[in-house]
Amino acid sequence: MKTPSHAKKIRDAVLFREIWKAMKVTFKHMFHRPMTFEYPREKRTIPDAHRGALGLLRYDNGQERCVGCDLCEAACPSRCIKVISEQDKAMPLQRYATEFYIDITKCVFCGYCVEACPVNALAMTKVYEYSTADKRTLLFDKARLYDIGDRYIDDARKYLYAHNQEKNDEESRAYRYHFPQPVGNAESSDA
Ligand code: SF4
Ligand code: SF4
Repeated sequence: MKTPSHAKKIRDAVLFREIWKAMKVTFKHMFHRPMTFEYPREKRTIPDAHRGALGLLRYDNGQERCVGCDLCEAACPSRCIKVISEQDKAMPLQRYATEFYIDITKCVFCGYCVEACPVNALAMTKVYEYSTADKRTLLFDKARLYDIGDRYIDDARKYLYAHNQEKNDEESRAYRYHFPQPVGNAESSDA
């Protein structure tokens, strides 16, 4: 970069050029519409792809979608999901989650758990107002996750659509999360 000559530096100092430059920016912003939102009275429009609170979803008939497969737990980089499942006694081939916990204090809102779920039982919503002084309330259990899913089902559906989870074409599948190939398989495919 070319450095200003000594004469130019003196000329700029005498003419207060830096101050005029700064004043120009100030004056320009005096005629702009303010961008500040007066939260919580005013709220921004949240986009459909927003990664807010996680919720568990049901089918339209009320049945829980989650089959307790643990794939979300395996995909979570923060290890903040815990799923305990058992066989459904009424339908022996089917499993369901008896307990489901997400420690939101550890969650980095990456959305991998949503992408990993084979039945779209998890989704993110536009809910972001759950700050608290009691950290223990941020361990979301199954009841709370289903409550979020039930109350914000429209947001959850829009999230899944925006993230290609509910589309089923080649292009959307390319964006889906893929589990890393197990080391054993990688070795055998190299051989
Ligand atoms: S959003 Fe990411 S960090 Fe949070 S629970 Fe899901 S996988 Fe884990
Ligand atoms: S939320 Fe989805 S990935 Fe996680 S245990 Fe339930 S069915 Fe499996």
